[in-house]
Amino acid sequence: MARYIGSVCKLCRRENMKLFLKGDRCYSDKCAFDRRGYAPGQHGQRRSKLSDYGIQLREKQKVKRMYGLLEDQFRRLFKKAERKRGITGTNLLIFLERRLDNVVYRLGFANSRAQARQLIRHNHFTVNGRKLNIPSYMVQIGDVIEVREKSRKVSAILEAMDTVVRRGIPTWLDMEKEQFRGTVKAYPAREELTTPIQEQLIVEFYSK
Ligand code: SF4
Repeated sequence: MARYIGSVCKLCRRENMKLFLKGDRCYSDKCAFDRRGYAPGQHGQRRSKLSDYGIQLREKQKVKRMYGLLEDQFRRLFKKAERKRGITGTNLLIFLERRLDNVVYRLGFANSRAQARQLIRHNHFTVNGRKLNIPSYMVQIGDVIEVREKSRKVSAILEAMDTVVRRGIPTWLDMEKEQFRGTVKAYPAREELTTPIQEQLIVEFYSK
């Protein structure tokens, strides 16, 4: 499966904000964005004024990179959000949040979405008691996500569960730490998604 294999810290520097793509490192003084908060490359320190198109493009790239999607996957999700009743931008953000890799990350079973994707592919989780290794699976209300019995000693999962307090677990998810289990109580409301995202710019980008 195709995936981005370049430096993820460069993506934060390009988008001019911390995207938290590297787990623990993002909270340490080794964070590349904290050290060099300007765009990568020879001319990175020259921030030129962006056109309207440039602003929309950057917002789309930022969100796409934050959730670790490639262009085709992101565009398909946008089309799906467009077809659904309601506000397209909000639909898009809720679809992104409902991806299994994001939910595993939000519940604190992984330190980053990339790590969550890897753990899911390696069959460490069940959904409603059944083994599931598809990171793009869209969770439904009532779904129960559980670490498989045999995976409860995996150090990456245990470390992530210990450090999730620093970012907290969203209120639309319920976590039972002792049982290695999380439940989807509801879909997130727009106001619960606190990451600074201007989804309207993404809608405008794809409407051209
Ligand atoms: Fe981004 Fe994390 Fe790298 Fe910092 S350490 S630049 S937040 S990916």
